[in-house]
Amino acid sequence: METCKNRTSDSSKSPIRYRVSGMDCAKDAAQIERAVQSAGIAPDAVKVSAATHIMTLNIPESQLAEIEKAAATTGYGFERMDANDDGTQSAAHQDPAYRRALWIVVLLNVGYGIVEMVGGFLAGSQAVKADALDFLGDGLITFLGLLAIGWSLVWRARSAMIQGIFLGVLGLGVLGTTIWRVFAQTTPDANLMGLFGFIALIVNVLAVLPLLKFRKGDANMRAVWLFSRNDAIGNAAVVVAAVLVYLMGSAWPDLIVAFGIAGLFLHSSWSIIRDARADLKET
Ligand SMILES: [Zn+2]
Repeated sequence: METCKNRTSDSSKSPIRYRVSGMDCAKDAAQIERAVQSAGIAPDAVKVSAATHIMTLNIPESQLAEIEKAAATTGYGFERMDANDDGTQSAAHQDPAYRRALWIVVLLNVGYGIVEMVGGFLAGSQAVKADALDFLGDGLITFLGLLAIGWSLVWRARSAMIQGIFLGVLGLGVLGTTIWRVFAQTTPDANLMGLFGFIALIVNVLAVLPLLKFRKGDANMRAVWLFSRNDAIGNAAVVVAAVLVYLMGSAWPDLIVAFGIAGLFLHSSWSIIRDARADLKET
């Protein structure tokens, strides 16, 4: 009886939506969902769209305080949207200083993405190429966010879909050439690998700095780590693989890390496509 009553009252509720700021990576969406779920709500009651950066909650208003507390630990900004907010207006995006910061992030990510992709070919390293994809992906997402200011949700979801497909094709390309490399192994240049992986770590931190003062919470080292860790783990894996390639004189560490990074990247592209489809169906 009690469950039945709850179910009817829950399903009759309209979803509560938040605009999330500070996301620059599809992996961030999953991280926020996990944090919110840890407050003890059902996994399907929270959805963070990697395509439109909107968090949708299907919970009673009474649970909201606890959810907001859990969300705040992630460090991202959450701005509640009212019922007739169609997602086109974002106060933060109207701020010229914030837009300038976003342009710097785009230039750093896309710029180093291209440099690292070339570096991957120079070093003969699949892991470096896979790592470059993440920079290109994050740069494109931020670029899209800048272009899409004032666009309707439908158009943002459509362009996110195109972007997701484009990134997916790139990811499949790297995955395919990595499989091919398993059968035609050449040992990558460990020094170059380590160099490009190490610079990637630095660029990831640099790309977080311009946005810090626009994010909620303290602009301290913990915040830098919080916002760059999802990508820094991949960069660090490239450096570790470079050391192992050097010690073992084998291509395997490079190939294994490449499979891991390319797999995660394909998963991110798929989240963008899936979320964009869900957003399109909703509007
Ligand atoms: Zn990323």
